[in-house]
Amino acid sequence: MAYPEFDAPSPHHAVEPPHERRGVCFHHTVLGFAETIAFMQSPASRVSYHVVIAPDGARARLVPEERVAWHAGVSSFQGREGCNAFLLGVAFAGDTRVAPLTEAQVESALEWLEARWARLGWSLDWMTDHRQIAPGRKDDLAPVEWERLRAAIAARFGG
Ligand SMILES: [Zn+2]
Repeated sequence: MAYPEFDAPSPHHAVEPPHERRGVCFHHTVLGFAETIAFMQSPASRVSYHVVIAPDGARARLVPEERVAWHAGVSSFQGREGCNAFLLGVAFAGDTRVAPLTEAQVESALEWLEARWARLGWSLDWMTDHRQIAPGRKDDLAPVEWERLRAAIAARFGG
């Protein structure tokens, strides 16, 4: 594995029912990497991603992917509401409205996807971002950065 990955457990998740893992919702955190982890671990926050990716590509695992993390809120995708049940939450540290994803962040995300893509039967149709599943309420990712990430996923895995 090219990028380091470590556990930084967040208590903000549900054990049952198990996560359906149909696809992925990407986010940006606005906060920095360490600040994001601290926030996800804070008892008051009640929010979490499955994984957060640092600008250098390092990944922190916050919630086991078999469990439902609380990243999407009120949301709808593929005709279904409540995306937390079926989309894993992958977040990039930083704010894509202010600065683009680093190459290492994109590569690390692809590496993370690679380990799951075939096994979980994923396709490009099941990749999205928070802005698209919560329109008017959320603005992550910046559209240009979503298009860049989507193109990178398509180039690596096809449609
Ligand atoms: Zn988000």
